[in-house]
Amino acid sequence: MQYHLNGFKPGNYEIPDAAREPAPLPPIIKLPTEVDVLIVGCGPAGLTMARQLSEFTDITTCIVEQESGPLLFGRADGISCRTIEIMEAFNCSEMIVKESYQLKQNAFWEPDSAHPENIKRTHKIADARLGLSEFTHSIVNQARLHEILLEGMKNSVTHLVPHYSRRLLSVDMDSQVTQDLSAYPVTATFERSDEGDANKIETVRARFIIGTDGARSAVRKGMSIALEGDSANKAWGVMDVLVVTDYPDIRVKSFIQSKENGAVMTIPREGGYLIRMYVELELLDKGQRAADIQLTEKDIIAKMQLIFSPYTVSVKEVAWWSIYEVGQRVADRFDDRPLNNAENLIPRGFVAGDACHTHSPKGGWGLNTSLPDTFNLGWKLAAVLQGKSHPKLLQTYSPERRKVAQQLIEADKQLSKLVATSPTAKQSEQQIKTDITDIEKFMARQNGFVAGTAIEYFPSYICTGQENQTLASGFNIGQRFHSAEAIRVSDGRCQHLGHLNKADGRWRLFIFGSDQNPTDSTSDSAQLIHFLAKSESSPVIKYTPEGTDIDSVIDVYGVFQQQDLAIEEIPGFLWPAKGKYGLNDYEKVFHADQDNDIYALRGIDRSRGCMVIVRPDQHIANILPLNAQTELSAFFDEFMLVPTY
Ligand SMILES: Cc1cc2nc3c(=O)[nH]c(=O)nc-3n(C[C@H](O)[C@H](O)[C@H](O)COP(=O)(O)OP(=O)(O)OC[C@H]3O[C@@H](n4cnc5c(N)ncnc54)[C@H](O)[C@@H]3O)c2cc1C
Repeated sequence: MQYHLNGFKPGNYEIPDAAREPAPLPPIIKLPTEVDVLIVGCGPAGLTMARQLSEFTDITTCIVEQESGPLLFGRADGISCRTIEIMEAFNCSEMIVKESYQLKQNAFWEPDSAHPENIKRTHKIADARLGLSEFTHSIVNQARLHEILLEGMKNSVTHLVPHYSRRLLSVDMDSQVTQDLSAYPVTATFERSDEGDANKIETVRARFIIGTDGARSAVRKGMSIALEGDSANKAWGVMDVLVVTDYPDIRVKSFIQSKENGAVMTIPREGGYLIRMYVELELLDKGQRAADIQLTEKDIIAKMQLIFSPYTVSVKEVAWWSIYEVGQRVADRFDDRPLNNAENLIPRGFVAGDACHTHSPKGGWGLNTSLPDTFNLGWKLAAVLQGKSHPKLLQTYSPERRKVAQQLIEADKQLSKLVATSPTAKQSEQQIKTDITDIEKFMARQNGFVAGTAIEYFPSYICTGQENQTLASGFNIGQRFHSAEAIRVSDGRCQHLGHLNKADGRWRLFIFGSDQNPTDSTSDSAQLIHFLAKSESSPVIKYTPEGTDIDSVIDVYGVFQQQDLAIEEIPGFLWPAKGKYGLNDYEKVFHADQDNDIYALRGIDRSRGCMVIVRPDQHIANILPLNAQTELSAFFDEFMLVPTY
């Protein structure tokens, strides 16, 4: 798809440029006085949390934003493979794939040794992330991603929409009642900024609060959570521009290192014409803010043009620009429990996204770490509020996501050193060559982390079974379920199994059959299916509320090696009757595709098979042998609650 030919226009890219107009500001909606979950901030972290909770009619959610309407342009633009996998869980990856720039190549430029004042291309390589996921790292406006999440919220069963023009002033947590799950320990005070009621004060009481209010988070401050690390010492100029240029790699992500004028990173943007440029500016003094250095977009353009010599870059339009400082910092905890938490308390307040980790924009990690923070938290909070899981589940958010944030800060420090040079430094040619090669090596080494696909949670009761890892060596316990295709038995359709892991709060259990035919009632798979369908200690039987569909809590799939399966020979538990008419669900049984064999791709033991248990956030929770029925029950008994309704 192409757009922005005659100027940048924000909004829904499905509407042609000529017809796309800015949406009117959303109306002011009265704030509720009491909710289950209060989310502060409509960035990617807040909207993902809201999108997840909007799936549940029995949870009341309120999301509040200080701006008068949704973001229109600017900020982050890189959407990692993992982020697109998460968007697929919300049923909207197609839109991103269709609208975005797909990053396939990187170009590296350095000073020309014959004319060091000029740059020359050293090489162009395939992006190191290709093949890590069925999706490609993509570039699209952060605002468009917001829009897709907002649309999903609005169209959900709860029709959730944000409350704009409210700034959080303070958060009060009543420590007397935080351990009473039914209580509302949070009182949040907001100030209105809309014309009609400017400065009016409103309060909301909540059972839980989520601070997704960015780097200067008022929620974080209200819960006295400290940020650790270095504060900003470097300013970066960033701009989205429409240009006419003779620089040949303008549609390729480029790392450009000049001899005397510093570095530029360019990233082609969606629509075929727009370009994002990161231009390294000045070192900041201690306590100095980027805003204090008083540079304008003209200064950024002038600096960029010097670096591009001998090529000319004529800027026709600046769609967005910003100068911002970067500090590499991480919060000492991601929830309101005291650091040592000796009393094993249940958290009632959380911080996510930039509110608990900040770093440079170079790796494109801001959005791509913030959004998975709340994708990790959302299902846990829903399960606790719905009485499906023990509240201790909420204690797993902070260690799981803080580990990722710490890895991110470490990676960012390494990349920052490689991409940045002091603008005044006159480097030797050899030094520049080394830097360029090191960037390339860094990207290759860290490709799984950069793509988000290698993010792995600590072993815990929801990431366990490491002793069985060899049963499926390509499904790493603690990492996300790495999708692969299989053929659906009922209709022959080729299906990406990872796309069955939707963000609906359900657990998934994939049975990968052994070399025994599952139609044989004595086979391991048939025995396991019988146990799941009939036994009192089956987690499916135990935790599924009466009167609800059999897959409403744990959704079981069968994937088999045998090619000649007929759906009617498979136990009916895998094509269950559901819904008000008792219609059969024929979409749970698969066989491996001989040309693209999931057993080979994911290292599944052909003779023994295995069970792969997948969390509602798509991470692998456990791998078990097919006959480990007792262990399967014990896994869920650790944190699930038997329904009382
Ligand atoms: C100016 C700017 C430029 C950036 N440029 C880049 C870039 O070029 N590349 C890149 O990768 N990343 C960039 N980022 C970072 C990236 O946008 C963030 O990492 C990402 O958006 C983090 O998501 P988040 O949801 O945690 O927080 P945010 O996206 O920051 O969202 C926080 C939201 O909370 C709202 N809020 C804050 N305080 C309050 C309050 N008291 N009451 C109510 N609402 C409040 C804010 O208005 C905001 O909408 C930029 C960020 C900023 C601020």
